[in-house]
Amino acid sequence: MIQFDHVSKKYPDGTNAVNSINLHIKAGEFFVIIGPSGSGKTTLLKMINRLIPLSEGTISINGKRISDYDIHELRWDIGYVLQQIALFPHMTIGENIAIVPELKNWEQDKIKKRIDELLEMVGLEPEIYRSRKPHELSGGQQQRVGVTRALAANPPIILMDEPFSALDPLSREKLQDDLLHLQQKIKKTIVFVTHDMKEALKLGDRICVMKNGEIVQVGTPDDLLANPENEFVRQFVGDKHEPVFREFNLQNLIVPILEERETEATISASASLNETLELLTHHDQLAVEENGAIIGMVNRQSVIRQLAGTMQKEVR
Ligand code: ADP
Repeated sequence: MIQFDHVSKKYPDGTNAVNSINLHIKAGEFFVIIGPSGSGKTTLLKMINRLIPLSEGTISINGKRISDYDIHELRWDIGYVLQQIALFPHMTIGENIAIVPELKNWEQDKIKKRIDELLEMVGLEPEIYRSRKPHELSGGQQQRVGVTRALAANPPIILMDEPFSALDPLSREKLQDDLLHLQQKIKKTIVFVTHDMKEALKLGDRICVMKNGEIVQVGTPDDLLANPENEFVRQFVGDKHEPVFREFNLQNLIVPILEERETEATISASASLNETLELLTHHDQLAVEENGAIIGMVNRQSVIRQLAGTMQKEVR
């Protein structure tokens, strides 16, 4: 879907923000880019919709170089959500959402229907919210509108640059949950920048860890936790979250085996988080064994959810 070949960005002042990156982002994937401040995440993201021109290499979308797309076509077909959403203050919520559909000359009826459909999708009553002005909404609600605005013309790709980082922890968690649910329905290709590992682990199908303009590791959340490529990734993912490893208790996650079917692999009920993740890298679910008997199973999703939950408790 989105292919980076030897992509570099050198700013006019000589800063090498991105160095010869190769990367393939798959269609329908929730792809998270994470790394410390200044590692090149935003630069990488903004090169996709040509907000920042490349210095070297090529980026292709569906096999066509981004430089060969009409710039309007490219921007309209890529939704974009920023940290400070910057809704137009003098326009209503409905008008803000309608911007790209208007540019694309959609019929007015279709635009009206789309506004209401989107507001409903993110839990904002259309009757109440479509004619409000942005300042009449909370920060979390404005950010929701930002997400709907990016989705308005149904673009296949959405770029999100730290979209929730200005929100308080509770709103932030809620929007993350909602975005996950939404993504299950809409199956967009989402490229999401964050510097927050717990957010990355919660949301990402795959996570790309960057440092100094280079990719250090790309992998699923369980890959990164179980097999960090080097000390940097291990520290970034693991050490900050020591309590997660200490608190981990497989017993809490065991569910009964409802269907009689071949379970792919077996794990001891007293296994550590590392052992569990190692096995879950290769298997979706594991049978849990205690004193020689199978007492239930655990699956990958519930383990990742527990991890994200413990990490979130920590920041409060
Ligand atoms: P991140 O999003 O990971 O914080 P950025 O992509 O914003 O990183 O920045 C990567 C590097 O490029 C940093 O060293 C930053 O200072 C530099 N940089 C970003 N934008 C510019 C610019 N317009 N001109 C010069 N240097 C820039």
